[in-house]
Amino acid sequence: MNRALSLLFALAAWLAAAPAPAALNIFACEPEWGALAKELAGPRGNLYVATTGLQDPHRIEARPSLIARARSADLVVCTGAELEIGWMPLVQSQSGNAKIQRGTPGYFEAAAQVTLMDVPQRVDRSQGDIHAAGNPHVHLDPANIARIAGALAERMAQLDPPEAAQYRERAKDFLGRWSEASARWQKQGAALKGMPVVVYHRDLSYLLRWLGLQEAGSLEPKPGLPPSASHLSGLLESLKAKPAKAILRSAYSDPRAAQWLSEHASIPVVVLPYTVGGTDKAGDLFALYDVTLASLLKVTQ
Ligand SMILES: [Zn+2]
Repeated sequence: MNRALSLLFALAAWLAAAPAPAALNIFACEPEWGALAKELAGPRGNLYVATTGLQDPHRIEARPSLIARARSADLVVCTGAELEIGWMPLVQSQSGNAKIQRGTPGYFEAAAQVTLMDVPQRVDRSQGDIHAAGNPHVHLDPANIARIAGALAERMAQLDPPEAAQYRERAKDFLGRWSEASARWQKQGAALKGMPVVVYHRDLSYLLRWLGLQEAGSLEPKPGLPPSASHLSGLLESLKAKPAKAILRSAYSDPRAAQWLSEHASIPVVVLPYTVGGTDKAGDLFALYDVTLASLLKVTQ
């Protein structure tokens, strides 16, 4: 056997013998947490994102493919605050994976890391309010993302101790870039302060609060209740007295009610990506905010 060939055999034997470092299997419920997990875990993460930016995160089905993916997950990253109440509990129980059940380190909720808006004084589910635990759409405030990133990196370090330093290093790097970008967005967004807008669902409330936009109305009579004809005509009346600059709609939502109101009130519809992948250009968290700011700023021009 020549020398090169024997070296090759030796290498092959060594590769077969050395155990490959096990990746951290991450199951992200929504694209924003998939994008954040990717930033923090880097190549160490084996990432699966359960939904796309064009799916309504309130209405996902516990499909067998999701259950199969959850079976091998080390870490599930969800929004929480009951956003996934219609599908995730079923995915968790059907997966038979003890590591990702509620209350274990393998189950991480982003909403639990921040202060929620719209926490109801009194819950009346008969009214169809699907935000009974408070507003779960926390990812459109950069301060929330920073807080969640820190907590998520610590959770990864806890689950994968040999790589703990790597997660913390990546978090530091991400938070540095995020803080710089946040300052830029804050500056750009100053032109939007006080702008009255109509929303479809209360999924932009954190964004509105951060930028100081005014919610002049919502197409849904209550979070989760579809726009009704009587509610829309009432909204149209109130807009005549107190006009708004734009109707904001997330990419995943039904366009019809926004279109109707736009035509009758002569206010433009602005489609926002809402999350990573909601529009073509919103490819990661930074691009999501860039695209969102740019779309809003067009209204002021
Ligand atoms: Zn919602």
